[in-house]
Amino acid sequence: MKIVHERGKCIGCSSCVVICPKYWEMSEDGKAHLLNSEFNSEKGVEILEIKEIECNQEAADVCPVQCINIEKS
Ligand code: SF4
Repeated sequence: MKIVHERGKCIGCSSCVVICPKYWEMSEDGKAHLLNSEFNSEKGVEILEIKEIECNQEAADVCPVQCINIEKS
């Protein structure tokens, strides 16, 4: 599965970082960064392939602007 972070929508509330620090950190521009992800500059999204969803489900659920998307394949 893939985690897709729509960075443009992120309001930098840090909820994902608090609930899922293994995958998320705050970056200097005030938005969240998905650790070890690849940035697709065309779409403005960070993408990370993962096998286990772990705390990313909670991060997606807690995000107030729903910019963390989980794509199950
Ligand atoms: S929870 Fe959503 S809006 Fe808040 S920092 Fe994380 S990605 Fe950004």
